[in-house]
Amino acid sequence: MTALAEILAARIRANGPITLADYMTECLLHPTLGYYTTREPFGAAGDFTTAPEISQMFGELIGVCLAQTWLDQGAPTPFTLAEIGPGRGTLMADALRATRNVPGFHAAMHLTLIEASPRLRALQATGLHPHAPVWLDRVQDLPDLPLYLIANEFFDALPVRQFQRAGPFWRERLVGLGDKGLTFGLGPILPVPVLTHRLKDTTEGQIVEHCPQAAPIMAEIASRLSTKGAALIIDYGDWHSLGDTFQALRAHASVDPFAAPGAADLTAHVDFEALAQAAAPAAHSYTTQATFLTALGIHQRADRLAQKISGASLQSHLAATRRLTSPEEMGTLFKVLAVHPAGTPPPPGSA
Ligand code: SAH
Repeated sequence: MTALAEILAARIRANGPITLADYMTECLLHPTLGYYTTREPFGAAGDFTTAPEISQMFGELIGVCLAQTWLDQGAPTPFTLAEIGPGRGTLMADALRATRNVPGFHAAMHLTLIEASPRLRALQATGLHPHAPVWLDRVQDLPDLPLYLIANEFFDALPVRQFQRAGPFWRERLVGLGDKGLTFGLGPILPVPVLTHRLKDTTEGQIVEHCPQAAPIMAEIASRLSTKGAALIIDYGDWHSLGDTFQALRAHASVDPFAAPGAADLTAHVDFEALAQAAAPAAHSYTTQATFLTALGIHQRADRLAQKISGASLQSHLAATRRLTSPEEMGTLFKVLAVHPAGTPPPPGSA
């Protein structure tokens, strides 16, 4: 048993089963034993690889997209360029390099990172040097400036609760203790007001997920997009969440999410409809990562980079391009929700 498993088992013995959201929160963000606080999750030696770690083109195209949106909106000065959950800072480093010749963009920006993990903040500082970002704990602390924001694989790391349909009501899936340690059980049959709209599209026994933090975070971002700005939310998921999408990844393989709490990355698919609704009255557009990157010119950029390399690095560059855009890989599993002020055109590539 990991030290965190002992702590959680003691808590469940004393107070009863906990929600899946509480379990995810402890596993990911426990101050001394949590996944993001203790591990190096990214890259070949880690547990998963994200788009910015696959190719520099990802961050470059996002940088160009946000800078073009800023120009199209009259280059408001000053403005906030922000990322939530920046990981190693790779995406932002690539975005900044790609936009350094956009006149006035860097001079006008307040570079801001929202990151929960002190360890990752240190990595971000190194990766972004000589830029000097400001770190915030929460989106609520973002200043009241025009906001250009990116979140890649952030919302999937937010804790979800799971509910199983029982007639017109629901039973929450709770984490309790069984013969072999932590395990799922079912709570009492209860009405769940936030899931009333899901009674229309679910049947008996089906599972739906609800991410309590997602809508408040999205609403807070959208409140800064009333006249200028844009937010790009990129993640895996669908317009509508259905079924159990909770998963644990360790060393690039799926593992039992209760086997070693704190040692595996835990995620759930993003429910984009819930984000779009929380963003209203701001407008949104929704497309696949493949469509978005293709419209922004990933294939032209890939061809240019390919001219400078050969052999194994050319092969891995071609594989990276495919991985980001092919429907068999990340191209259609990953979606892009672009939130922008009502009455303004969507950011390039997003519609
Ligand atoms: N965007 C990066 C990293 C994705 S991993 C990439 O694409 O590579 C998720 C990131 O969100 C990590 O940086 C993690 O520490 C951060 N994070 C998770 N929960 C958070 C929270 N509640 N508040 C702020 N950051 C959080």
